[in-house]
Amino acid sequence: MKDCIFCKILSGEIPSKKVFEDDLCYAFYDLDPQAPTHFLVIPKEHIASAAEVTDNNSAIVGHCFAAIAKIARELGLESYRVVSNCGEQAGQSVFHLHFHVLAGRDMTWPPG
Ligand code: AMP
Repeated sequence: MKDCIFCKILSGEIPSKKVFEDDLCYAFYDLDPQAPTHFLVIPKEHIASAAEVTDNNSAIVGHCFAAIAKIARELGLESYRVVSNCGEQAGQSVFHLHFHVLAGRDMTWPPG
């Protein structure tokens, strides 16, 4: 989608540090890491947020989680947090569905 920075990352227009890629999803390191390991997993299909997931496109969410588990195994991550901010009040700043994967430090709960 025009004007979506993650679509521009997918097209190569904006550079990124790739972690993993397959036909349906792409993973890359976050520009502003919030933990020693912090990468994002995004579907290649433009979906604005978790609020836009429907019965018709929800298979991609499971696929992203399978990719996360695979990447975590490959990176040797034993413990990690998966976060998807949905909507501005929840902290979403890029409106292309993405899953943050954070690892390598103690995490607090509840999140801020
Ligand atoms: P959110 O605020 O939950 O929508 O997450 C968006 C994330 O995208 C933030 O953690 C940003 O640091 C990250 N981000 C924005 N632009 C880029 C970029 N060009 N490359 C990598 N990460 C980015």
